[in-house]
Amino acid sequence: MERPMDPEWVWKATLGELELALQRPIYENWLKDARFVAYEDGNYIIAVRNSFAQEWLNQRLKSMIKRRLERLSGRTVDVSFIVRPEKVSVTATPMPESPLLSLAQDASPIGRYQHTSSFLDANLQADRTFDNFIVGEGNRFAYAACQAVAQNPGAAYNPLFIYGGVGLGKTHLLHAIGNATSQEGYNVRYVTSETFTNEMIESIRTHTNVAFRQTYRNVDILLIDDIQFLQGKESTQNEFFHTFNSLTAANKQVVIASDRPPHLLTKLEDRLLSRFGGGLTVDLAPPDLEHRIAILHAKAYEKGVVVPEEVIRFIAEIFPNNVRELQGALNRVTAYAQLHQQPITLFLAQKILEPHQVQVDHSPEAILEAVAKEFNITVSELTGPRRTRRISVPRQVAMFLMRDLGQLSFPQIGEFLGGRDHTTVMHGVTKVEQNLQSDPVFREKLERVRVRLKQ
Ligand code: ADP
Ligand code: MG
Repeated sequence: MERPMDPEWVWKATLGELELALQRPIYENWLKDARFVAYEDGNYIIAVRNSFAQEWLNQRLKSMIKRRLERLSGRTVDVSFIVRPEKVSVTATPMPESPLLSLAQDASPIGRYQHTSSFLDANLQADRTFDNFIVGEGNRFAYAACQAVAQNPGAAYNPLFIYGGVGLGKTHLLHAIGNATSQEGYNVRYVTSETFTNEMIESIRTHTNVAFRQTYRNVDILLIDDIQFLQGKESTQNEFFHTFNSLTAANKQVVIASDRPPHLLTKLEDRLLSRFGGGLTVDLAPPDLEHRIAILHAKAYEKGVVVPEEVIRFIAEIFPNNVRELQGALNRVTAYAQLHQQPITLFLAQKILEPHQVQVDHSPEAILEAVAKEFNITVSELTGPRRTRRISVPRQVAMFLMRDLGQLSFPQIGEFLGGRDHTTVMHGVTKVEQNLQSDPVFREKLERVRVRLKQ
């Protein structure tokens, strides 16, 4: 207690108290980086990293912070949050002892590239950024690695390989890297390995493979999603191998996302796998309870709805697996409340969500039947050989639900759907995930199948 009235000291002491008082993810996401800037006329001016944090603090924590500042300084004060982004230092990550992390600082970044325009779309989703990615135990290291890459592309870790289960934020992080770096003027491209394959095939068909190659080799940062779909596709793997090599040889950054670790990509060529292992591999684990609560707070806030704490906690408790699920549950509750003009209460949330949890028939047979009914086709069409859209879309829905509800493996699902290959199933599941993101009508249709599965 040397200089108890020094405002900076008071701020630090307040921060220390808050760290103890708040749930960890809340503290880390909104307060950890908050810095004392000035003290003017009884007003503490505190810098935070973005406007999202600014609003969140104003809304949720301002009075609590004010009270603590007042108690510690012994006078009436006010507090204002201003936005002042800070370069995140790589050593501030949880594993400062890691030689890999310190490498990030020594290596020089690739030069801002010279090409002014790219003929390819960056394919970036602007709303998936570092700022709205909520950090917790399960993704902290992956997040830090992605930030390091975004700050020092081509230098920190190349390639960066991110893996983790469905809905844990792989795609989000790829876009976050893409958004941050494209703002800096880098030539960025996000593709799924499936799109890469299709473009390659198309370029062969139209005799534009030279241009195809050239275009990919001109990017500074290649973000390639769902690499698992390259399994078993030899010629695409070969093309990708050369793209990968020429990019990394020129110190261009490659970031790869996968639903499994490299050693389980059993149908990828060894030479590719060994390249993947040449950089840094990070994984995303499912969020723990605290993290889920923090995510739900943030999502509710983004949507501009006030959700009572007990409802947040309830949702966090019954949806332990991934972020997409949490988001879906929150959306269902808020949409229902809005539609029926009812307040969001625990009772309402239980009514809406519990049936999905406890009384759903997860058996593959029930799923086949519900999907067939909803899409007006027969079960034997679902498991049969035809591949028209009318049949293949519902078939993919069935694959998705067997994975999501039934927790079956890809080969098992393939069996239930008439002996299809597991790569076909993986493709189907991803297709549905993509549609869910982009197509509200489709989302509703899937929701109706879920309703049919309720007993
Ligand atoms: P994956 O690619 O791993 O299957 P996504 O990146 O598509 O998962 O994430 C699923 C959804 O959850 C997306 O809407 C994404 O924005 C959101 N999400 C995932 N992780 C987080 C997180 N830590 N904070 C905020 N949103 C997240
Ligand atoms: Mg994804």
